[in-house]
Amino acid sequence: MQDLISEYLEVVRLFRRYLEEKRGMEKREKKQDPQVLLENFYQSMKNCKLCNLYKTRTNIVFGEGNPRAPLMLVGEAPGRDEDLRGKPFVGAAGQLLRESLKKEGISNDKIYIANVIKCRPPGNRDPKPEEISACLPYLREQIKIINPKIICTLGKFSTQVLLNTIQGITRLRGKVYQLNDTTIIIPTFHPAALIYRAPWKATFQEDLKLVKRNLDNL
Ligand code: SF4
Repeated sequence: MQDLISEYLEVVRLFRRYLEEKRGMEKREKKQDPQVLLENFYQSMKNCKLCNLYKTRTNIVFGEGNPRAPLMLVGEAPGRDEDLRGKPFVGAAGQLLRESLKKEGISNDKIYIANVIKCRPPGNRDPKPEEISACLPYLREQIKIINPKIICTLGKFSTQVLLNTIQGITRLRGKVYQLNDTTIIIPTFHPAALIYRAPWKATFQEDLKLVKRNLDNL
């Protein structure tokens, strides 16, 4: 009888241990979920005051899209529409970008969109070096969490900061660069530039074709 009770208690003990380990595993898996990580990260930085741009922003524009996207698009900074709505690329330039992506068959579920700077520079002026230094770690953390295979940098600022260069976008665009062992960078023009320089549209579309070819080869 005593043996039976001991065996029964041992089974209960092992089952409890299994349940505890399973709960721990589920917790750890949840913690590693990019969606959860991104949300936690956003909650931790949404009241950021690391540079003066917080004084004039309406909303922080954190980023939007699939947290497991193979392709990340990185622009410069929010404009007026983005600041008002708290979402990236929702103005005229965003519309142009989305139409161009659609033409190449790059669907929304494949992308995550963010900017280097999360708060709008007043009057859409260029971001200052100290603003870029203050905000860049946020983009780096987003890249770390999402771990995209391809980053398409849109325009001079995001291209220069991620490639750590001072070369101009016209020389850098349309080529493939290695960011690290798992991620490549393909720079192109910022879609806002295409509104004023129509001849660049065809080149922009060519660059997106290169992005698509690389996406297809993953
Ligand atoms: S621009 Fe970036 S660093 Fe500056 S206040 Fe906004 S989130 Fe913070």
